[in-house]
Amino acid sequence: MSRAFSAKILATLAAIAIGAPAWAADQELNLYSSRHYKTDEALFAGFTAATGIKINRIEGKETELIERLKREGSASPADVFITVDAANLQAADAAGLFAPVKSSVLEQKIPAQFRANDNAWFGFSYRARAITYDRNKVKSEQVANYLDLAKPEFKGKVCVRSGNHPYNLTLLASIINHNGAEKAEAWAKGVVANLARQPKGGDTDQMRAIAAGECEVALTNHYYYARLAGSDKPADKEVVEKVAIAFPDQASQGAHVNISGGGMMKHAPHKDAAAKFLEYLVSDKAQEYFANGNNEWPVVAGVKFDNPRLEALGRFKIDPLNASSLAKEIPQAQRIMDKAGWK
Ligand code: FE
Repeated sequence: MSRAFSAKILATLAAIAIGAPAWAADQELNLYSSRHYKTDEALFAGFTAATGIKINRIEGKETELIERLKREGSASPADVFITVDAANLQAADAAGLFAPVKSSVLEQKIPAQFRANDNAWFGFSYRARAITYDRNKVKSEQVANYLDLAKPEFKGKVCVRSGNHPYNLTLLASIINHNGAEKAEAWAKGVVANLARQPKGGDTDQMRAIAAGECEVALTNHYYYARLAGSDKPADKEVVEKVAIAFPDQASQGAHVNISGGGMMKHAPHKDAAAKFLEYLVSDKAQEYFANGNNEWPVVAGVKFDNPRLEALGRFKIDPLNASSLAKEIPQAQRIMDKAGWK
């Protein structure tokens, strides 16, 4: 009999002996994921290797998965939902989908900034919303702050993805937090007035547009830049040669950062496995996967990783704004986006 197998039998017997609930020896975990990064395979395989718990994964867009979870209600098979952006986590939380998890491991390892105050959800990696720009036409001083993107000097020179996208909504939420709604609205209107073209595509498309000469400045999550910088494709190399990246607001609050994260579902059939999975995501190994796989920074301090693309971006000051309070400003951010016509 293998050691793992006999340990499982012992654990089951112990659970029966102390009258623990049936989920104490979960063999599987149902994971709903809207993280859209191929490298996550290694992350999930690592959990199964460490615990023997099989992961059944359902993938989809965040909005679709949240709708599905709402529809399934108490009959939902989902144990854990992971996604990107505090806006999506907040949307799931507002719909009452999460069950708070009391875990000293999660509380000790994840800085308070990167988790919900009531432990409904947790961030496992963080990403910065950076400004990318044409290194030949724009000076770094011109893009030192997010507010610079609304300056008249960039008329017809800004490329950006949709204002309905969580990455831009959460950035606007941080601008509301720091500058007030009025200034935030003026900024959104200024960006719209500066657009080189209608918002379209993802963050990588904005960098490609800069390289193609269609615009000079854009908003991009840092890991898309790091991905291009690590690519062997000549077309990607060419983009990085022409495009530079800046972490804004270094003289004030610091660059806006967001998280990717998740939580346990209220009706999770495998609560023990769900808690184990969440705790696994803050293990050194999993944290290293976030850094090496998707070029995101681990939330756990002091985790060692070997990623020259991330190292090359250097160190910078991050905005300490709490992800929870940020997420609460999203509805107002959406209203401002609509008013500004940032489609
Ligand atoms: Fe992304």
